[in-house]
Amino acid sequence: MRTARLFVHGSWIDGVSTFEMRDKYDGTPVAEVHEAGSEHVDAALEGVARGQRDHALPPYDRFRILSTAARRMEELHDEFVNTVVLDTGFTLTDARREVSRAAQTLLLSAEEAKRIHGEVVPFDSAPGVSERYAFTVRRPLGVVCAITPFNSPLNTLTHKVAPALAAGNGVVVKPASYTPLSAGMLVQLLLDAGLPPDLVALVQGPGSTVGQRLLESPIPSFYAFTGSTEVGEHIRRTVGLRRTQLELGSLSSTIVCEDAVLDRCVPLCVGAAFRKAGQVCTSVQRLYVHAAVVDEFLSAIKDELGSRTAGDPKQEGTFVGPVISAEDADRIESWIDRATRRGAQVVHGGRRSGQVIEPTVLDDVAADLDVFCREIFGPVVSIRPFSDFDEALAEVDDTPFGLAAGIFTSDITRALTAAERLRMGSVHINETSSSRVDLMPYGGVKHSGLGLEGPRYAIDEMTEQRLISIGRP
Ligand code: NDP
Repeated sequence: MRTARLFVHGSWIDGVSTFEMRDKYDGTPVAEVHEAGSEHVDAALEGVARGQRDHALPPYDRFRILSTAARRMEELHDEFVNTVVLDTGFTLTDARREVSRAAQTLLLSAEEAKRIHGEVVPFDSAPGVSERYAFTVRRPLGVVCAITPFNSPLNTLTHKVAPALAAGNGVVVKPASYTPLSAGMLVQLLLDAGLPPDLVALVQGPGSTVGQRLLESPIPSFYAFTGSTEVGEHIRRTVGLRRTQLELGSLSSTIVCEDAVLDRCVPLCVGAAFRKAGQVCTSVQRLYVHAAVVDEFLSAIKDELGSRTAGDPKQEGTFVGPVISAEDADRIESWIDRATRRGAQVVHGGRRSGQVIEPTVLDDVAADLDVFCREIFGPVVSIRPFSDFDEALAEVDDTPFGLAAGIFTSDITRALTAAERLRMGSVHINETSSSRVDLMPYGGVKHSGLGLEGPRYAIDEMTEQRLISIGRP
């Protein structure tokens, strides 16, 4: 059994009570998690606020610590992978990708720490202003509070913690209760890399109590959150004028035109639909496939999935592991059942064992079915054939969300039309909605949130600009 403690005032400490974390595949207890009381949350915030005030790190030191942490994470790759698997039930392949990406995110943040700069403002271009010089600098905000979801317990957390530190802030972290272990390892890694212990704190426990206390405290100047739209809206209402980065829900679509190169497109769609058992905000949930190629596409998808296995994520080669909880498995199963009762055809999968849902492909899916019009967060992709490109684009855009979309086509005009018309944070041409490179600006519009991840862009948000002007005495 592992133990997940709190890191407060520079020490690993016990909470007010403990709860058990279970293996997502076989249900065995794997960790005892210490839950923070309100006094721990307050102490964590006060300690980091003081640390950030008293121990400001120069940019080079931030670079050194974050780049050492990146290197060390690569050295500890297998330990991190095992921890991510325990936390999430991700397959080894998915967990390895999560760890490699998190190491990259640390390194990118380290590099950006050295490039934080302002600009010269040409005061003397204004009428009547002469012999005055002006420039801007970017200053840290103080304390960043990072609240993260279960589905990327290491890289999403790193996308918040590393830019916050690179920008010169202190950070208080609250991971999802389902996945407490990776966060503890990340904090220890940063400490071992030389981070002063009073610049970071970790509190564990439910969002409704521990998270809520973090929101109600006046100390954080910035909330970096990834999770559901519902909680994101609650954060906005609670924290008032303070800045937020909210990476929220989605309903992601990918369009496959009749001139798509299927040999390339099909494996990418399969990977992006079932990676992390579909528990990715940009997962390919809705696939619009041109009617002229839909039969060929379906047969290629069946071939691609043919020998893939669903089951124990710790077994090398397992393609899809469990979803995060039995309740989520119940919900996903009921949405599939409802869809098939309403005439959807199961092209592949559809069955469930424990928390494992087979990779499921549905065809003939009505647009008002839950599997199609609500975020499923499970290994289910729904296919909707189209004949009219403009109609398909309009449907893809017609959701409350705007995170990302993908389109496969060889026609540049069509690709650019999609890029112009779709109101999304990202549109990927000849890639799926789930394409992401960690250095890119990443964020949604509409109900998918506001603010950006991607170290360079997050650092901008986690700093404030100050203008300094100089005149002759
Ligand atoms: P939740 O919104 O349920 O939880 C996210 C985090 O918020 C958890 O740490 C949770 O704590 C905490 N939380 C819950 N209530 C409160 C509260 N009142 N105050 C403060 N914190 C609170 O999301 P899930 O974990 O279920 O993640 C899935 C969602 O995340 C999906 O909608 C998905 O689309 C979205 N997501 C978006 C991404 C993006 O980049 N746009 C990327 C990944 C996921 P606890 O769980 O411990 O109670």
